[in-house]
Amino acid sequence: MDWDMEDGERFLSSLNTDRDGDSDNTLRPKTMSDYVGQDKIKHNLAVYIEAAKGRGEPLDHVLLYGPPGLGKTTLAHIIAGEMNSQIRITSGPAIEKAADLAAILTNLEEGDVLFIDEIHRLNRAVEEVLYPAMEDFALDFMVGKGPSAKSIRLPLNRFTLIGATTKAGMLTSPLRDRFGVNCRLELYNAAELAHIVKRSAGILGVEITDGGAGEIARRSRGTPRIANRILKRVRDFAQVKGNGVVDELSADAAMQGMEIDKSGLDNIDRLILGTIIDKFGGGPVGLDTLAAAVGEDSGTIEDVYEPYLMQICYVARTPRGRVCLPDAYKHMGRKYGGDNGQMTMFE
Ligand code: ADP
Repeated sequence: MDWDMEDGERFLSSLNTDRDGDSDNTLRPKTMSDYVGQDKIKHNLAVYIEAAKGRGEPLDHVLLYGPPGLGKTTLAHIIAGEMNSQIRITSGPAIEKAADLAAILTNLEEGDVLFIDEIHRLNRAVEEVLYPAMEDFALDFMVGKGPSAKSIRLPLNRFTLIGATTKAGMLTSPLRDRFGVNCRLELYNAAELAHIVKRSAGILGVEITDGGAGEIARRSRGTPRIANRILKRVRDFAQVKGNGVVDELSADAAMQGMEIDKSGLDNIDRLILGTIIDKFGGGPVGLDTLAAAVGEDSGTIEDVYEPYLMQICYVARTPRGRVCLPDAYKHMGRKYGGDNGQMTMFE
């Protein structure tokens, strides 16, 4: 069996490009109690949901933000389920014209949840339709031209907008201000990921030991989507090369085959670290310069690679750019000189 990455596709990508069918949906928890981790968010949402239901009102608009694969879409489905509402799903880039959004909004029924993924990618004209819709549940139209033009307001059914984004900073402030509930999803710890892996193994009918789940959890970059994806490949490995049971040994062997190292880093993470250390003296190096040197899109480095490298204290952002920290040198087998601009972090 060939364990190379397919066509250069990054195995550890947390973007939803899964080729194993609709697996995100199969493994997706359906209720708050099945949704592992993010305790503070779950607790707060449970209160807001109960209160809104008690008042017979839709839940206030919710903004979910954090890196890909952390469970934003899943949480939106769960919120809709708890509110006993229908969910309509779309995304920022899919809504090209103001009229497209107006059509979606006028078709919403009372209490519906509208989920807009990648909401930071809505264009300005579309976004402006959202303001009165979110604030007053209304659409504003201009009718006629010149001095006789007048604005007409069309009432909408009350709904809850759930926006998801990997880049909260790219949201305009008028849009951000119209969300009553803001939830920042955190990367998951190893215990939470082990729990998710075991739950997924149960659904997929895979026999797994605590050691096997722990090994996958430690190497999943804090991201449930990656944990689930690795589980499936490790299962293949255990089935073909072992006795079908996912344990620490078979998980380790499979991940070595996939070139996922002990810290959960893949070739591109190591390329990023090696480039900062070897080509830029450990940094600081600007994001665009780094992206050009590595041959990756700067947005992808920022959204997909960097959050985990920062979480494990391998990379830090300073006012002058990215720097590698001592643990990254150790991991890459390089000697740390201690003079790579880190003082700037504390300036
Ligand atoms: P996002 O929308 O943030 O990119 P998703 O909601 O699509 O992420 O989650 C990706 C997959 O990860 C889901 O299909 C689900 O199986 C799993 N997952 C995400 N969050 C959790 C969680 N808290 N508990 C269990 N599984 C989760």
